[in-house]
Amino acid sequence: SKPTVAIVGRPNVGKSTIFNRIVGGRTAIVEDRPGVTRDRLYGHGEWLNHEFHVIDTGGIEISDEPLLGQMRAQAEIAVDESDVILFIVDGRTGMTDADEAVAQILRRSKKPVVLGVNKLDNYAQRDQMYEFYALGLGDPQGISGAHGLGIGDLLDKVVGKF
Ligand code: GDP
Ligand code: MG
Repeated sequence: SKPTVAIVGRPNVGKSTIFNRIVGGRTAIVEDRPGVTRDRLYGHGEWLNHEFHVIDTGGIEISDEPLLGQMRAQAEIAVDESDVILFIVDGRTGMTDADEAVAQILRRSKKPVVLGVNKLDNYAQRDQMYEFYALGLGDPQGISGAHGLGIGDLLDKVVGKF
């Protein structure tokens, strides 16, 4: 069956923007899961000869957990339910404790991870990508979800891990 790609990352880094870029006009299904999940966004992606499911874990909310707990829970769900993880960070904000906490879970999982540094809207912001090498998840891919920059290169890396 089709592989699943889970998008993880802090609130506001651009997960939904990138999700919409990947699934394009195709309708995302919202599924309610009482207890753990409020709503969860599933979509269908295609790139080159590959078809895959996409999950935006930003739709997952775990009761009143503080941010770090939310992030950990989302990362664990992503690890359990996907074949490749697309980890998005914010290149304008720079690295945060929550980014490092998620990276640690992802590294330990041994799941394939593609790291996207978002909000690099122009060439001058490119240098803001390099600090994310410290997450230990390989080469970061600079992207701008808002402007559609680097998304093709990002998807090349994702399907390369299927
Ligand atoms: P999410 O909370 O991770 O799903 O993030 P969203 O996709 O909702 O985006 C959060 C905010 O960042 C919104 O105001 C977006 O318009 C903005 N945003 C997303 N991608 C980019 C980008 O590439 N560049 C800039 N400058 N803003 C972006
Ligand atoms: Mg979102």
